[in-house]
Amino acid sequence: MNFLITGAAGFIGSTLANHLAREGHQVRGLDDLSTGDPQALSPDVHFTRGDVSDRPKLWTLLQEVDVVYHLAARVSVPESVLYPRDYNAVNVGGTVALMEAMRDVGVRRVVLTSSGAVYGDLGEQPLREMITPNPRSPYAVSKLAAEYYVRTIGRLWGIETVSLRVFNAYGPGQHLPASHPPVVPYFLRQGLRGGTLVVHSDGAQTRDYVYVDDAVSAMVAAATAPNIDGLVINVGSGRETSVRELVKEVTEATGGKPEVIYNSQTSGGVSRMCADLTLAQDKLNYRPSIKLDEGLRMTLKRDPRFR
Ligand code: NAD
Repeated sequence: MNFLITGAAGFIGSTLANHLAREGHQVRGLDDLSTGDPQALSPDVHFTRGDVSDRPKLWTLLQEVDVVYHLAARVSVPESVLYPRDYNAVNVGGTVALMEAMRDVGVRRVVLTSSGAVYGDLGEQPLREMITPNPRSPYAVSKLAAEYYVRTIGRLWGIETVSLRVFNAYGPGQHLPASHPPVVPYFLRQGLRGGTLVVHSDGAQTRDYVYVDDAVSAMVAAATAPNIDGLVINVGSGRETSVRELVKEVTEATGGKPEVIYNSQTSGGVSRMCADLTLAQDKLNYRPSIKLDEGLRMTLKRDPRFR
């Protein structure tokens, strides 16, 4: 099949692109390299640098494409609190521009990488797709708006759409910015260096950590699965892990003895997050297979930054 992946040089995008290229598919990748690294892509992926809102570029890239994976986005919750306009422009505006270009060219299906963050702080766990979302950050709002845009424009123009609400993905190649880094690679790096692990709040907050290969398996299935048009589907591990438990797992995986500081001055964010995977199992035959301890060890082994 012919695929276009936006955000292809990013963490999940490059893992997906390399997987599809290995399977023998034709893969085009688009990324503005604002955080992505084209070196992460195998030479079999046809890479183009550009903005996801550049419709003339999209018209060219979309020719003969069967399915688009839309991952290009700004991805930091804390950063979105500071710069909501940018998050709206890229995550919402970029999605609408892509849908317009897909309509113009006549592409059949788009798989949007949405986020478990759209749910916000809801008492009921595990989170099922039918719950009314309660987004708590501009990032979460932008992903929810993108879901509505792909579904609505898709319905109007006969494009099949599915939004995958990916929970906390981790694995080799995850972007590790200096400020507000994602928790898994930050803890791994600190654990290996014998540095300090700073935990927000009391560390009782939970997340659903999903290894990137498991998330990619759901994305691959979403390209061809029947009867998923218009759906949103959770993609996680189905396990709830507190940050305290994550500290323990990281300590075991790295073999270090890091100092752990609990910072009661900072918010731990959403208090609980765990994906209900019933719909993903049913529609995508999704069965995550990599447990957290194994995923952390694989990340350490496969990511050169941790050697
Ligand atoms: P990432 O930052 O590594 O990937 C995003 C990519 O998009 C980057 O390579 C960046 O350069 C590119 N990009 C940003 N703005 C662009 C623009 N205007 N035009 C073209 N490219 C642009 O992040 P990731 O973790 O791989 O996330 C990929 C997607 O998955 C995002 O849509 C994100 O919202 C979603 N997601 C990620 C997670 C996670 O835990 N990593 C969870 C849920 C959803």
